[in-house]
Amino acid sequence: MKSLVLEKKDDLSLRDFPAIDRVEEVLGARDVRIKLHTVGICGSDVHYYTHGRIGPFVVNAPMILGHEASGTVIEVGTDVATLKEGDRVCMEPGIPDPNSKATQLGMYNIDPAVRFWATPPVHGILRPTCVHPEAFTFKLPDNVSFAEAAMVEPLAVGVHAATKARVKPGDNAVVMGAGPIGLVTALSALAAGCAKVYVTDLAAKKLEIAGSLSPAIVPVDVTSQNLTDVINRDMDGWGVDIVFEATGSPHAAKTVFEPLCPGGCVVMIGGQPDPIQYDAGAAMIREARVENIFRYAHVFPRCVGILSSGAIDVKPLITRTFDFSDSVQAFEIAASAPPADVKMQIELPQ
Ligand SMILES: [Zn+2]
Repeated sequence: MKSLVLEKKDDLSLRDFPAIDRVEEVLGARDVRIKLHTVGICGSDVHYYTHGRIGPFVVNAPMILGHEASGTVIEVGTDVATLKEGDRVCMEPGIPDPNSKATQLGMYNIDPAVRFWATPPVHGILRPTCVHPEAFTFKLPDNVSFAEAAMVEPLAVGVHAATKARVKPGDNAVVMGAGPIGLVTALSALAAGCAKVYVTDLAAKKLEIAGSLSPAIVPVDVTSQNLTDVINRDMDGWGVDIVFEATGSPHAAKTVFEPLCPGGCVVMIGGQPDPIQYDAGAAMIREARVENIFRYAHVFPRCVGILSSGAIDVKPLITRTFDFSDSVQAFEIAASAPPADVKMQIELPQ
């Protein structure tokens, strides 16, 4: 039962990890046991690999990576009602304390006690099987593949961001950043009703991919174009209704209000490890509404529905698939950030 283990910063190995059987693989009455099929490589997994930490979360002991997953139910707890052996599923990786105040208020994603896969000290799921609560495991329709299902987790961030923005039909938006999260946000904004979404980046190849996803996506190369000029030209000087910040770059975040219309909304998505400059005056004269998101809540079933109906197609975002036996190499490649790749996935042996 090999697992992909981050031993410490810059040190990955594919090896047996016996402790997991004792601690994390005990099946409770409302749990299911899942054989993992496809796991996406997330920027956070790569960051733990290359930096050994993300903000306050530090890898102090060997940790199994991976949190974007799909698989097949192989065993169900005695009280499980909605799932059965053989069901194809995707899993929401963060499990809150069901009795916490945040959970009771419906904001379970910001429960300080949430246990999230591959966030130290909680193990991820680049391993053959896992045990997960029925309540955070979602059955897949036949027309959603395991690869697409493993994209539900990043897509959930985009859908949550579009939900927080309160997109109205015909809104125009900017998404800063054409990484995986920027692209799922652009697609979510369109699915929510946006007429046009401008996507910015510094990398030409990423912008090419963005532009290929929909005729309603307008790529803006900020190495040669000034975003505010482009928006002023296209919007008759008024600005866009929504700006989504999905770069995590302080430089980009500094400019979020510039292309925004009066009364518009900014959604901060990209993680900022340090305090950043924020133009409060530009926000004030627009009476801008600013939303922050942390992961997502209540959107996994919606994402499954969106993929099944075809409202969003995530297949063009899956640019490379590796065999589990090559997963150390997959992470080395992911850490080099190849410009032509959006999402890399790992397939486990079945
Ligand atoms: Zn992720």
